[in-house]
Amino acid sequence: MKVVKFGGSSVASAEQISKIIDIVAADASRRIVVVSAPGKRQGGDTKVTDLLITLAQTVLEGADYEAALAAVVGRYAEIQKDLDLPEAIVAAIEADLRGRIENRGANEAQFMDTMKASGEDNNAKVIAEAFIKKGHPAKYVNPGEAGMLLSDEFGNAEVLPESFERLAALKDEPDIVVFPGFFGCTKAGEVATFPRGGSDITGAILAAAVKADVYENFTDVDSVCAMDPRVIDNPPAIECMTYREMRELAYAGFGVFHDEAIIPAVKHQIPICIKNTNNPTAPGTMVVPQRKPKHGSVVGISSAGGFCAIYIDKYMMNREVGFGRRLLQILEDEHISFEHTPSGIDNMSVILQSAQLGKKEASVVERLTRELSPDAIAVEHGLSLVMVVGEGMHYTPGMAAKATDAFFRAGVNLEMINQGASEISMMFAVKDADREKAVRALGAAFFG
Ligand code: ASP
Repeated sequence: MKVVKFGGSSVASAEQISKIIDIVAADASRRIVVVSAPGKRQGGDTKVTDLLITLAQTVLEGADYEAALAAVVGRYAEIQKDLDLPEAIVAAIEADLRGRIENRGANEAQFMDTMKASGEDNNAKVIAEAFIKKGHPAKYVNPGEAGMLLSDEFGNAEVLPESFERLAALKDEPDIVVFPGFFGCTKAGEVATFPRGGSDITGAILAAAVKADVYENFTDVDSVCAMDPRVIDNPPAIECMTYREMRELAYAGFGVFHDEAIIPAVKHQIPICIKNTNNPTAPGTMVVPQRKPKHGSVVGISSAGGFCAIYIDKYMMNREVGFGRRLLQILEDEHISFEHTPSGIDNMSVILQSAQLGKKEASVVERLTRELSPDAIAVEHGLSLVMVVGEGMHYTPGMAAKATDAFFRAGVNLEMINQGASEISMMFAVKDADREKAVRALGAAFFG
């Protein structure tokens, strides 16, 4: 049994919806279909979720919202017409939206979630009708009624553990289940949404709940690329990677999945396949619990900017018991999370996202200076992290040499190197200005 999720661009128009129906119909094991709200049809278009946010904001401002409402209804009306579905479906969507607006309570965040959730909810209803019209027995399932219970952190909700057992019953549904992504219901019965892009989370939860053989995630790329195509022309495709590799790559800028989105699938060891709605016979990229990598191979190279480093020097630091703890304690007190802490005999650096430090920089430096009495302290901004990732690097001598040689030849100065004990990734910090050059140099060294 497969749980299949289609993102916004895959359900943005009647043409795309027809494709997803054919994809599901082509494989009898595709039993549960998770759908997003209609996304962008072309560049410059607006996602229905964004139209709904504008609508909700207009309502909250007390302004005239008819035009904003018409923009949302218009998107469904176009789909209804092009799929030749009954007009009543559009009238029902309009009534649903007006109902959500008129029956809103005082909690603005909850109202915003109710409006955002309508994007996937109404799309799932339309898509279930479209399946039926094409002769495939299908059923819209309401997440709240099916047992998708979420915490009441509106806009940032998390699944509650009891959901999995309840949702498991979906595997016995005789018809194709069309399940709206992105939202669920709190214990008090209110609609709550995951963070943006949260339909991926819904898919991963359902795949785990029904113990699917595969979680297929359809998007608009044939496969995940080993490097950012905006930096490297025609990068190689990744056929297969492990959860760990995917997490390391996602950490530094790999955008296909939000790594947190797939936690439920990872926890339950459900393989994930990323595929293209516009080219469904392409094999896609598999993300699996384990694989046997080629010795010395690298799966991908990613990079992300927006980092900074706090450098601290103190003679005899290695003998000073508790130095590291006190340093990190100061960051904890200031609610700052850090990324890496490379250290030497008489120095320790902390790499963090610049946004974490933000306006607290002066006060943090003041505390570090006062409480740790360092010989020198400096903060360097404008750093990028470049990650080389691959299970195949484990136990292979010469991987770092290959990378640093590539940097040397390209004239990229290394600010820092860090290799975790797992040996499945190497992290290099470089200046922002060197980031693309660094990725290209590594790409040439590891992929030719
Ligand atoms: N429609 C929601 C968003 O745009 C959720 C999703 O598509 O996954 O964020």
